[in-house]
Amino acid sequence: MRISKLRTTTVAVPYRVDEAWAFGRRSGQVSVLLEMQTDEGVVGLGEAAAYPSADVVNAVFRTLEPLVVGEDPLAIERMIHRIDLVGTWHHVRASSPAIAAVEMACWDVLGKVCGQPLVNLLGGRFRDRVEYFYYVARVSPAEVAAEGRRATEAGFGTCYLKAVHDDPAADVERVAALRDGAGPHARIRVDANEAWSPGTAVRTVRAMQPYGLELVEQPVSGRNLAEMAYVRGRVDTPLLANEASWTRHDQLAVIRAGAADAISVDNQADGGLLNLKRSAGLCEAAGLPVVKHSLGELGVALAAATHVIAATPTFRYANQAYGALLSDDVTAGFGGPAAAYRDGCLDVPTGPGLGVELDPDKVARYAELYRCGADRFAFTDRDSATAPALPKA
Ligand SMILES: [Mg+2]
Repeated sequence: MRISKLRTTTVAVPYRVDEAWAFGRRSGQVSVLLEMQTDEGVVGLGEAAAYPSADVVNAVFRTLEPLVVGEDPLAIERMIHRIDLVGTWHHVRASSPAIAAVEMACWDVLGKVCGQPLVNLLGGRFRDRVEYFYYVARVSPAEVAAEGRRATEAGFGTCYLKAVHDDPAADVERVAALRDGAGPHARIRVDANEAWSPGTAVRTVRAMQPYGLELVEQPVSGRNLAEMAYVRGRVDTPLLANEASWTRHDQLAVIRAGAADAISVDNQADGGLLNLKRSAGLCEAAGLPVVKHSLGELGVALAAATHVIAATPTFRYANQAYGALLSDDVTAGFGGPAAAYRDGCLDVPTGPGLGVELDPDKVARYAELYRCGADRFAFTDRDSATAPALPKA
């Protein structure tokens, strides 16, 4: 079997509410969908988050095509090795989502050829359902409380809130509101996206602690592991690395520095599903649990990660997904809005490969939406151009 063509379609699916974080905002999910065609008629699906932009991802796809077309889609390690070394992509981090999508599509082809769901090819079912968090993307305390109530009523066990204020006291108030709305049993996770200085991080995490935190994600710069370890040594709340743990090489450095209690891992940020499994193994050897990070994704990429998580013991926490934000999806019957989740969980697909199919009408609709309003859905919020470059002391 040989790969004959990479067909890509860029889509934009609107969010129910805007996603806002310390340094930006966006109003929808832009993904580049991949249909990898083969000379035997089997089509593999992949998906790349538009990170850092759809134009960059599409340019990477065009550059990968000569390295991939004519290759055997079942020789996955060899193909990635060829892309990394012959294609000289191994030092270029922005290339990762497109490479990950090609690798994802190869796994889909393999599963379809074998007649097996991907989970069975990656270790088999350790769990039948995979838990995801509820993303509370609201700013005002009243809205945060209402969203927390909605999450708990919908059966989600973990709520995720980003720090969005230059004044940490305002974010402490939002955490209090979330506890009030979500109730005493909800697990609450706060992601600072590197916004705090080490001193601010210690003071702020201690101030949030009375409201009960499951994890605090990337409180300080991910580029400075000594500062992460400093904070970790001074707060009781466990810390989750994210911007510090983009790739396996970064994860090893975090482990060596003793900079986190749990580690975010991401197949789109580190070139594929095999690397996601490798990340989990690396962290398992260090005695650390892992959490799947998300750059934002639709049902194809979410299904792919769900298979790996189901087959890997060390995903002990609720993982990241965008169900609470998405208004719709492009797949027929997997992922999408929060209503598709049961008790915050998704069942592992049972069909061959990724076990999902594209809904052609929805793909057409959201491709048109992207063509008509690409700027509206970009990662960058131009109004945030004045966001502080450095945290306050
Ligand atoms: Mg994060």
